[in-house]
Amino acid sequence: MEIESFELGPFATNAFLLWEHEGGDAVLLDAPLGVEETVPPYLAEKNLTLTDVYLTHGHWDHFAGLPFLEIQNIQTWLHPDDRLLVEQPELASSYVPPGLPMKPAEINNDLVHGQRLKILGQSTEIRHVPGHCPGNVLFFFPDQKTAIVGDAIFAGSIGRTDLPGGDFHTLEKAIREEIYTLPDDTILLPGHGPMTTVAQEKSSNPYVRPM
Ligand SMILES: [Zn+2]
Repeated sequence: MEIESFELGPFATNAFLLWEHEGGDAVLLDAPLGVEETVPPYLAEKNLTLTDVYLTHGHWDHFAGLPFLEIQNIQTWLHPDDRLLVEQPELASSYVPPGLPMKPAEINNDLVHGQRLKILGQSTEIRHVPGHCPGNVLFFFPDQKTAIVGDAIFAGSIGRTDLPGGDFHTLEKAIREEIYTLPDDTILLPGHGPMTTVAQEKSSNPYVRPM
């Protein structure tokens, strides 16, 4: 499986395009504003068909490009605890710079804790990692030793907990139970900034220490 990352939108949000081989299917994890201009030419160049968009969580900077992605018949996925955020984007108006498009996104599939999906033929485990917001999930691809984690944890940092529905103790517990229990050599791809690993964060993340 190939993974290409794109850093897009006013909050430099990472989107990840996953595909198996040129001419095959592709899926997108997160859809910041700008994805609608960046991803379609990339798909065309590699002759890929986008089948699904999975959202790590419902914050505006992770889905704002989705309503503008003019691709037919794509399935969209999100944890139900964040549905309200994508259906009523105006809830985010206090932290989104004025003048940017705030269009609701349509979601047609739920992601839940413990769910096992086949994504591009790869077994994928969904883990619920709330605290940054109610419905943040991670996608763990054991065969790739990789997890796409949304805004739960960053290299040397953690997601902010001061937005509506955020709670530090919930996030701390979720990181310990759902991220620090992944194999140490798992690569973590966060929603902002560079990649890291489980071992790296367990040894040096100053905000959440392992138990
Ligand atoms: Zn977020």
